[in-house]
Amino acid sequence: MTSQFSFELQATDGKARKGVIKTPRGEIRTPAFMPVGTAATVKAMMPESVRATGADILLGNTYHLMLRPTAERIDRLGGLHKFMNWDRPILTDSGGFQVMSLAELRKLTEEGVAFKSHIDGSKHMLTPERSMEIQRLLGSDIVMCFDECPALPADRKRINESMQLSMRWAKRSREAFGDRPGHALFGIQQGGLEQDMRAESAEALKAIGFEGYAVGGLAVGEGQEAMFGVLDYAPDMLPMDRPRYLMGVGKPDDIVGAVARGIDMMDCVLPSRSGRTGQVFTRHGVVNIKNARHADDPRPLDEHCTCPACSNYSRAYLHHVFRANEMISGMLLTWHNLHYFQEIMQGMRDAIEGGTFEAWQVAFHEGRAQGDIEPF
Ligand SMILES: [Zn+2]
Repeated sequence: MTSQFSFELQATDGKARKGVIKTPRGEIRTPAFMPVGTAATVKAMMPESVRATGADILLGNTYHLMLRPTAERIDRLGGLHKFMNWDRPILTDSGGFQVMSLAELRKLTEEGVAFKSHIDGSKHMLTPERSMEIQRLLGSDIVMCFDECPALPADRKRINESMQLSMRWAKRSREAFGDRPGHALFGIQQGGLEQDMRAESAEALKAIGFEGYAVGGLAVGEGQEAMFGVLDYAPDMLPMDRPRYLMGVGKPDDIVGAVARGIDMMDCVLPSRSGRTGQVFTRHGVVNIKNARHADDPRPLDEHCTCPACSNYSRAYLHHVFRANEMISGMLLTWHNLHYFQEIMQGMRDAIEGGTFEAWQVAFHEGRAQGDIEPF
């Protein structure tokens, strides 16, 4: 066990990177997918089950936790790890993105964002300093700078103003974070789809200095082609020897494309949210378990998958419990989806190490293009 936060780059294949982040709470193998535990739980999953899918780290949402049960209460109860029974690393977002997407009556100023809770209408203020305080009270291992980003498309003026504000907030975040050995603060690159602003943002962040760097402001409505367009250059602007995190991404092919472009960490609600709506990700593309074609099908979702949903249950059963609104439906499908996402990450780590990432990608895309097995 280490008492410091560190990142070791172990292998590269093209732009793709394999490595390990070391923290006092354990190692994070990269490329890493982080399941989202919004309200101190990955919905429908026990923490030990999340771990069994292969997750090394979870993401927690500052915005949700500050409103309910509040960061101060979690701190009094021993911190987020103890509170939710997850003793491995946790990354928390800054609350900035969700304030802008969920809160009511927002007022954005140089100081921060004043808003009303979407839960009970109570008034709050998030600033870089308050966001750092909340993430410290939660006990987060990887803390994100407080930032602001516009939905895309947005004009250059709006993107520039937002990026400049985020860079001033990044400096305030660094100062407020202070000296906390074993914990990391990540800066967030902004600049929308504008290459010159991405470069300016990267330079501003490097001048401040962070333990890791995120590519922010993507997956906000621009589409995969535009996102990959930015990822063709944005990660190269960030330091080689620090982890690079793409926030809020994504679908399996987004994840693979991002890793191919030099991204080390990602998070997304997609596998867990989809698990609750009957959408299943498999090696052969997306399966919708509510379709009538599964009603009499005795076969597993994926005969090669080793997750509990595939090992012990038929498509017919999964179809039945989904249609009957039984809780086990969300539990099993979420487990399968998280297992599949982690399997992709392990496949990529092995392929990068072995120098076969190009061939791995071809096989990945061929498998998914095949589509689901023929109806029973
Ligand atoms: Zn499975």
